[in-house]
Amino acid sequence: MDFEYIELGIIELIRKAETELPEDVIKALKSAYDIEDDIAKTQIDAILKTIDLAKKTKRPMCQDTGIQTFFVDVGIDFPHIKKLKKIILNGVKRATDEIPLRPNTVDPFTGVNHKDNTGDFIPYITWDFVEGSDVHIVSLPKGGGSENMSKLGMLKPGVGIEGVKDFIVEEMIKAAGNPCPPTVVGVGIGGGADLALKLGKKSLLRPVGVRNKDKKIADIEMELINRINATGIGPMGLGGKTTVLDVHIEKAHRHPASLPVGIAVQCWADRRANMIIHKDGTWEVK
Ligand code: SF4
Repeated sequence: MDFEYIELGIIELIRKAETELPEDVIKALKSAYDIEDDIAKTQIDAILKTIDLAKKTKRPMCQDTGIQTFFVDVGIDFPHIKKLKKIILNGVKRATDEIPLRPNTVDPFTGVNHKDNTGDFIPYITWDFVEGSDVHIVSLPKGGGSENMSKLGMLKPGVGIEGVKDFIVEEMIKAAGNPCPPTVVGVGIGGGADLALKLGKKSLLRPVGVRNKDKKIADIEMELINRINATGIGPMGLGGKTTVLDVHIEKAHRHPASLPVGIAVQCWADRRANMIIHKDGTWEVK
């Protein structure tokens, strides 16, 4: 198998994520443009022009090219599972030079930056194992400004779902313009502390506009979209009707004594791209 050829696929995956927003996000931003006025409309217009330019020039749409983050579903019959981590790592290093990406990983103690977007536990990869022989990789570069607005609430179970909703709205009011709105808010409810945050981030893989399959949760997502947008924070925090493009909720069962709520905020640069690697080493990026 030509592993270097698969590395090229990883570079293309990252390039696609960094330079082309998914259609669902563009559609939501265009809808926001239609309903906004004044400064909010100007902000969305600037965002749409930036997206267009990034696609045409194949340059990253934001100077913060994020922490390289991947969600990988590995088919258990893929023949080279043990090579995958190295392939992704090498792809990230090469993409840093070739796209190029901002070197975004520093040691928290020494401040040392290897300048290739790798380091301890970075790129950050979540592995899942599934039936079949294909490997499905989602690239989700995560910017620092929106990541800084992440929040974990270990709520008292007595507050109930109404308390959960209030917590999310209050945190988004506190975040204001910092995460570069309009955002997509990913929420994980239940599990333990780490699982709640992980579910929140994983929910960002769901396209904008797609509701949770559980009608009760879908209704809460809609309610939160309306409540957060009613705050008037608006695009880039300058006022307007569109503070969030979407709210996605995922849940896990929880300990009776705990009600964890993990919030992962994604900025307007809601970057996502997909790659499939087949067992013969061929790949597609979309
Ligand atoms: S939060 Fe997003 S849009 Fe804002 S600077 Fe960071 S990556 Fe760019």
